Amino acid sequence: MPKPSYLRSWYADTATPHPPHPTLEGEKTCDVCVVGGGYTGLMTALELAEHGFDVILLEAQRVGWGASGRNGGQVITGYNKPMSTIERWVGRDDALRLWELGEESKALLASRVERHAIACDLTWGFVYAAVKPRHMADVADLDGEMRGRYGYDRIRTLDRATVREHVNSDAYVGGLHDSGSGHLHPLNYALGLARAATAAGVRIFEQSPVTAIDTGANPSAKTAKGKVRARFLVLAGNAYLGRLSPRLASMIMPVATYLIATESLGEDTAKSLLPTNVAVSDMNFVLNYFRRSSDHRLLFGGGVSYSGMDPPGLRLTMRSKMLAVFPQLRDAAIDHFWGGNVAITVNRMPQVGRLTPTTLFAHGYSGHGVALAGMAGRVMAEAIRGTAERFDVFARLPHQPFPGGRPFRTPALVLAMLWFRLRDLL
Ligand SMILES: Cc1cc2nc3c(=O)[nH]c(=O)nc-3n(C[C@H](O)[C@H](O)[C@H](O)COP(=O)(O)OP(=O)(O)OC[C@H]3O[C@@H](n4cnc5c(N)ncnc54)[C@H](O)[C@@H]3O)c2cc1C
Repeated sequence: MPKPSYLRSWYADTATPHPPHPTLEGEKTCDVCVVGGGYTGLMTALELAEHGFDVILLEAQRVGWGASGRNGGQVITGYNKPMSTIERWVGRDDALRLWELGEESKALLASRVERHAIACDLTWGFVYAAVKPRHMADVADLDGEMRGRYGYDRIRTLDRATVREHVNSDAYVGGLHDSGSGHLHPLNYALGLARAATAAGVRIFEQSPVTAIDTGANPSAKTAKGKVRARFLVLAGNAYLGRLSPRLASMIMPVATYLIATESLGEDTAKSLLPTNVAVSDMNFVLNYFRRSSDHRLLFGGGVSYSGMDPPGLRLTMRSKMLAVFPQLRDAAIDHFWGGNVAITVNRMPQVGRLTPTTLFAHGYSGHGVALAGMAGRVMAEAIRGTAERFDVFARLPHQPFPGGRPFRTPALVLAMLWFRLRDLL
């Protein structure tokens, strides 16, 4: 059995070949400088280059090194919050527009995969799995809201028997099947976007962390060995942006979350666990999510750390959680263990906006970024091209900084999450 490793994810081990991009050296000019090479930055860059903009993208590590290359790969309908909550915040009209943008985010992802022939195992089918009888009330609410109020007809309520057609486990009392959500190999999707961006003319520089930015009328981004001057700056560093912009740092909380991958189980065993090859997410607040890999492993996610430290023994805890769902895997070795930082906002909705007239940003997809980050990239590109209508729909979402300021927000969140964990146990 290969040694488990925090850094070597299953994705990194199965990545399509991706020759390195150069490091930025010297001074360059362009129309738009994008900071960050995840889905947000790559999609912004690609959409702008396709419309004739000269774009430079600066990535601190490698393209897809951040959350975009480490995540659970679940392409999820909608947002972290129910549409009824969103309606309360922004009213029915904007809620409808946000729903449509969410739907477009999945279509955008699918069309990019097809158009650029990105080999990332994109598969449709998803189950929200109810762990407790009270979750069935949430299922009914979701169904009523999505189908009844938003006309979404791709969902089907599952009872204890029919959920087993998708998830061969005693752990669930029912759920909701969504044929419009799915899963993919997240790193290969990011690498495919980078390939497409390069082909469209984007100049990508890796190992080029931006150390300082000027967000004034003539914006620029500085690295150790170079500088980019542009007409517009796009900040797409999400949970990894650190203190480059203190204002943005106050609006998101980076939360570490983890996945394990079993050894290859063989096709028959893997299929027996998830016969319809759906991605699954349970309905607890601190949730578990899992799916099959193309080489017949189970990829299982769910451990979180709000304290900024990797919890000791987490790999074993996650294995126990996996065995609670699939006890039949008790002899399966765990080959990979890795984690990454997801950015959450106070209201768990994406934040898209302008720091200044020349500097745009998007972050904080709160666990729903596989599809939504690309859409945020598209609307930022639209705004730079001069049409900010859809950008403004996102920008109107009300956001506030995490309470307590930097020193106190983590302990406050840890306490809040402890409460939710206790609630999951009831
Ligand atoms: C373990 C895990 C599981 C997840 N599971 C799911 C899921 O199943 N479904 C879902 O929808 N979402 C999921 N998410 C969230 C999703 O991955 C993110 O929302 C999405 O990838 C965000 O993309 P991004 O481009 O905004 O950020 P990232 O992919 O994090 O990219 C930001 C990039 O910016 C770079 N950067 C930062 N600062 C600088 C700088 N100063 N200079 C240059 N470059 C810089 C970083 O190196 C990084 O590569 C998960 C996240 C994690 C961590």
